[in-house]
Amino acid sequence: MDQKIVSELAAIVGDDYVSTREDVLLTYSHSASIGYDGVMPGAVVRPANTQEVSEVLQVANKYKIAVTPRSGGSSLQGEVIPREGGLVVELMRLDEITLFKKLRSVRVGAGVTFGMLDKYLNQYDLWVPIYPESSLVCTLAGNVAVNGAGPGSSSYGCIAEMVLGLEVVLPDGTIIQTGSEANPDAPGPFLRYAFGPDITGLFIGSLGALGIITRVSVKTFKRIRNFHYETYGFETAEQAERFLLELRENDVQAVFASIYEGRILEFFMDMLGEEYGIPKYEWPTFTVSVTLGRLREDQLASDVEKAAEICEKLGGHVIGISELPRGEWDDRMRTFARSSYAHGWHWRILYHHQTPTNWHRSVETIWDVMDEFGLLGHTAGFLTGHSSYNFYPHLYFDPEDAEEEEKVRAAHAELSKRLFKTGAVPFKLAPYWLEDVPEMDRYLRFIHEIKNLLDPNGIMNPGVIPMPE
Ligand SMILES: Cc1cc2nc3c(=O)[nH]c(=O)nc-3n(C[C@H](O)[C@H](O)[C@H](O)COP(=O)(O)OP(=O)(O)OC[C@H]3O[C@@H](n4cnc5c(N)ncnc54)[C@H](O)[C@@H]3O)c2cc1C
Repeated sequence: MDQKIVSELAAIVGDDYVSTREDVLLTYSHSASIGYDGVMPGAVVRPANTQEVSEVLQVANKYKIAVTPRSGGSSLQGEVIPREGGLVVELMRLDEITLFKKLRSVRVGAGVTFGMLDKYLNQYDLWVPIYPESSLVCTLAGNVAVNGAGPGSSSYGCIAEMVLGLEVVLPDGTIIQTGSEANPDAPGPFLRYAFGPDITGLFIGSLGALGIITRVSVKTFKRIRNFHYETYGFETAEQAERFLLELRENDVQAVFASIYEGRILEFFMDMLGEEYGIPKYEWPTFTVSVTLGRLREDQLASDVEKAAEICEKLGGHVIGISELPRGEWDDRMRTFARSSYAHGWHWRILYHHQTPTNWHRSVETIWDVMDEFGLLGHTAGFLTGHSSYNFYPHLYFDPEDAEEEEKVRAAHAELSKRLFKTGAVPFKLAPYWLEDVPEMDRYLRFIHEIKNLLDPNGIMNPGVIPMPE
């Protein structure tokens, strides 16, 4: 990057917090997205506060430099891989936490990870009940930017449901605050839907393409400490799907619930079963793995009983293996991402949301595509809210085999088209949805207009949301 620009950045953040050293750039050229090639940026800058972020974006705008906001770097679809010669704005120094106990909310800087926040809130017997499985590295701001979900979502919804307001630096350096905190005299974050249209929502899932989130305000809840872990077996997908719905309809609080196909469980157990102490078992055609969580023990006991009753009424049986859901919940098992890291595989992931009653349609579509393209992969997901189920199928490839990688790209494109036809919706605006699903054109054009309005120079994370010509 031009030395003049680097000097202007250093004047904002200090010499220690801007770098063009090759080893530093190499670090920021990659992320947890192992299936994507790294790209060398021109510089990395690490601002300390919102004001510095604003001044950095003013410089980037003046010189029309591509900017990639980066927090934990744990995203899996190449979202945080920079543009060649561009500027990475790393936000981990924004690490303040402010608790508003009476408002049952907390405000965190963009550099605060779920792990840091959980440790802090634990002192007050509070928590934010949604955790991505990458909690120790992933930030709340980064998770809001990708519209994430995770353990806890089965009861509480995606991370968006927790957000009360955001502080955002727009591409031209303007600082805005959304939600109740837009009133400087407000006692803190207590209402997201203040001041008319939901501007907060504009930045949720925006992948750093519309501005940089510098602070996130979220709801807190009294910490649940009573859990019960159980597995339930079924012979048909319809029974397993119905089981998830009836848990919800009967107010049984499953904080994390997933349906597994027997063959997929075998696949994971071969790799990780022993490590997690999961007994060998002839898994049924469908296993539902559930963590029940309640504030009070009597509520939990009642949920345990009701869940067993619903399972048996539907023709299923209580398996009695608790180590699988316990591993998922307690250790955030990181099973599925980890299994492939452990084996050195690379993969492409295809996040989408399906309805619980259409669970089988996603699974059938994923298998059809894997079979047609001759690929190894897996189906996996979890219940994420009122009536949605988040899928994250992986398609594996050998990183040394260019032909196979190409095949995975083609399979990915085909899968997104077919899943859309089953009624599934994108989890976020990843390029394959927009390039391969023409039904999304109108939506894309609208996003394009908003992007042009906020970022006329197109500096913010270009390419992450593909733009029509
Ligand atoms: C083992 C493993 C398990 C995972 N499990 C889950 C899971 O359960 N649920 C889940 O949702 N995800 C999961 N992920 C994916 C990943 O952790 C999430 O995508 C996470 O939210 C990314 O947060 P981050 O802080 O690492 O952001 P980054 O990877 O740094 O950035 C993600 C995106 O957000 C943008 N961005 C980052 N910070 C900001 C900001 N302050 N303002 C504006 N834009 C910004 C970036 O430009 C990029 O587009 C997992 C990843 C791994 C490696």
